[in-house]
Amino acid sequence: MIQPDAYCELCLRPSASRVHDGCQQKIRQHLIDLPGLYAALAEALEPGRCGDGGRTSSGRTAPLPCSLDALDLRARGGIEGVLAGWSADLCEREQWQLPQYGTVEAAVDGYADLLLRNLAMICDEHPAVREFATELRQITGQAERLITGDRPPRRIPVTCPCGTVLRITLDTPGARCPGCEVQYGHAEVLQLPMAERSAA
Ligand SMILES: [Zn+2]
Ligand SMILES: [Zn+2]
Repeated sequence: MIQPDAYCELCLRPSASRVHDGCQQKIRQHLIDLPGLYAALAEALEPGRCGDGGRTSSGRTAPLPCSLDALDLRARGGIEGVLAGWSADLCEREQWQLPQYGTVEAAVDGYADLLLRNLAMICDEHPAVREFATELRQITGQAERLITGDRPPRRIPVTCPCGTVLRITLDTPGARCPGCEVQYGHAEVLQLPMAERSAA
């Protein structure tokens, strides 16, 4: 049987602390990066840098993406929504007053900073720290891909011994099988056999 206390909440590998230092460090980096990514998305949306506009003679490489996705991430409820949601959750738990900001940009900066300053406590105590880490990883990855033009990481189907197919990415911190509820760490889940493509 798995003893929950003996495993890192994030990567599900054995750990003396509730969250490995290294796993906490990854969340920290996302919180540090998000305000800069938010600003960089604005540049990606500047007129003249959107689409190709038929002007490809400048010798520049592929135009930066200009998409509704970038607009969505910059709107209230995008990057701001994730950071504000978790900040509100934190403030409610601690009975602090949630700071309010006049602009989305100020909110992104302020809430990222609030979460950063309380990250150690969140990792030590918060019941949903895994969800918190996952949402931050996803929104950071989404913003980075819009800025760099990379495609989302490929999902690979693997089969749990119970027969359930899990769709994982190579950078997954771990996964829990929805079929038999076994928890796999990063290395373990990558060792599961690839699922056969469904026969035509
Ligand atoms: Zn860990
Ligand atoms: Zn299973």
